[in-house]
Amino acid sequence: MKPAILIVGAGFAGATIARELADSGRYRVHVIDRREHIAGNAFDPVDAELKLRIHRYGPHIFHTNDQGIFDYLSRFTQWLPYTHKVQAWVENTGYVPLPINRLTINKIYRQQLTDEASVIAFLEKIRSHHENPANAQQIAENIFGPELTQLFFARYTQKMWDISLSQLPVEVLKRLPVRYDDNPNYFNDKIQAMPKHGYIGLFENMLDHPAISVTLNCEFVKSMAADYCHIFNSMPIDVYFDQQFGALPYRSIKFVHEHLNAHEQPVPTINFTDDGIYTRQTDWRQYPACDLGANSVLLTKEIPCDFAENHFERYYPVKTVDGAPQALYRRYRAEADKLPNMTFIGRCGQYIYYDMHQVVANSLKIAHTFLNK
Ligand code: UDP
Repeated sequence: MKPAILIVGAGFAGATIARELADSGRYRVHVIDRREHIAGNAFDPVDAELKLRIHRYGPHIFHTNDQGIFDYLSRFTQWLPYTHKVQAWVENTGYVPLPINRLTINKIYRQQLTDEASVIAFLEKIRSHHENPANAQQIAENIFGPELTQLFFARYTQKMWDISLSQLPVEVLKRLPVRYDDNPNYFNDKIQAMPKHGYIGLFENMLDHPAISVTLNCEFVKSMAADYCHIFNSMPIDVYFDQQFGALPYRSIKFVHEHLNAHEQPVPTINFTDDGIYTRQTDWRQYPACDLGANSVLLTKEIPCDFAENHFERYYPVKTVDGAPQALYRRYRAEADKLPNMTFIGRCGQYIYYDMHQVVANSLKIAHTFLNK
């Protein structure tokens, strides 16, 4: 009998490693998940009545510049092209493109800047000049000036992360491109798409292998380890160690759904960058892969919150400029490194704000390192 591997969590990290080990022909792989479904936070069941596919844990838009990762996932799904677009709703102004571009600046400042050079010249007049900018606030102010920084980033960041923009690590803000032209797209990546039959379809195909078995509604307990030669574990690393050094901070999201007969919004996602409680609003019908013939509208608004306020559902690892959460993670990581038969994977196991393509890339690397040992 081939040796057995346990994978804790049927999200992108777990499913990728499960598939690679199964494809090697050397292992039997048992995937467990505490939830009643596969696909982790990418779970996107169809609401048969509304004829809409709804991402239960918030919109997941696949984007990457890594052709290899796209080709790998294309073994398990066809895609529908979708280039993500976001606009912000600004009081007294209306909808404006995000990331900030020429049209955003023209609308906010009632300008008629006609080209990139004039946008750059305009920003040069309003931007700050922090020498050696040390945080996301100063970096944003050096590009856009204090007013646009406050309008689009400071308040959104405060409600999203419950920390000030000056405490936000620079990498988080760098997720958003800086533009001076009219490009209305949220991401710059050359590959942008959504799985034709949903992330559910993609995960079903990934896990459909004679060497893979899946058990849902199954919580990991340490006594399971005895039956397996290795465990790949995507549970929160601090929870595995009974939070002995304290809880790692996470943000979570609550979703508020509104069913309407009709609704007009210019793009699928609207960001609310004001002081209100909501960050985003999604009109599911505008995503090609989610519209299965809907004749009404479902809007979903997002309210960020502490994970303890949302059934301990962890969505975003919170890192700060002062490095306190990162230091806490390193203490758990040091403990994890002492366990020869356990590898922590994914957003919660590695405490990394991964995008989907990044977690697949990292999980492929982990699987190949294990197979080449
Ligand atoms: N952000 C912001 N205003 C916006 C959009 C994003 O200040 O309108 C900041 C905020 O701190 C956010 C980060 O940029 O958490 C990353 O945004 P992204 O849209 O990538 O977040 P995700 O899609 O992962 O929730």
